Amino acid sequence: MEDCIFCKIIKNEIPSQIIYEDENIKAFRDIHPIAPVHILVVPKKHIPSLIELTNEDKEIIGKIYLVINEIAEKENIKEKGFRVIVNCGEDGGQEVKHLHFHLIGGKKLGTKIVS
Ligand code: 5GP
Ligand code: ZN
Repeated sequence: MEDCIFCKIIKNEIPSQIIYEDENIKAFRDIHPIAPVHILVVPKKHIPSLIELTNEDKEIIGKIYLVINEIAEKENIKEKGFRVIVNCGEDGGQEVKHLHFHLIGGKKLGTKIVS
């Protein structure tokens, strides 16, 4: 999608710190990290949000979780733990309208994820 910031990152039109890339998935560091490890994992396909998922996306979503595990291992946060967050829609606090999974870790996170 033309004016989508994550589509531009996927196409390397906007620089990012790339952590992982394959045919369908890209992962890069969040520009405003909230923890020592804060990585965004995104499908290369422009899916605006979780509610736009279709049957044809099932495989890619499963793969994203496997990639998250792989990255967690490389970033040395697999043993101590981490959090995966998907914000959806206005009340969910989604700012970028391209489905993305926040992988957050590297410190003890608060137990309250809702505010
Ligand atoms: P959301 O609130 O939509 O779930 O999260 C969007 C995330 O994208 C935010 O954590 C924000 O810091 C990050 N972000 C926004 N613009 C850019 C950018 O240009 N580059 C990178 N690496 N992250 C971005
Ligand atoms: Zn996009």
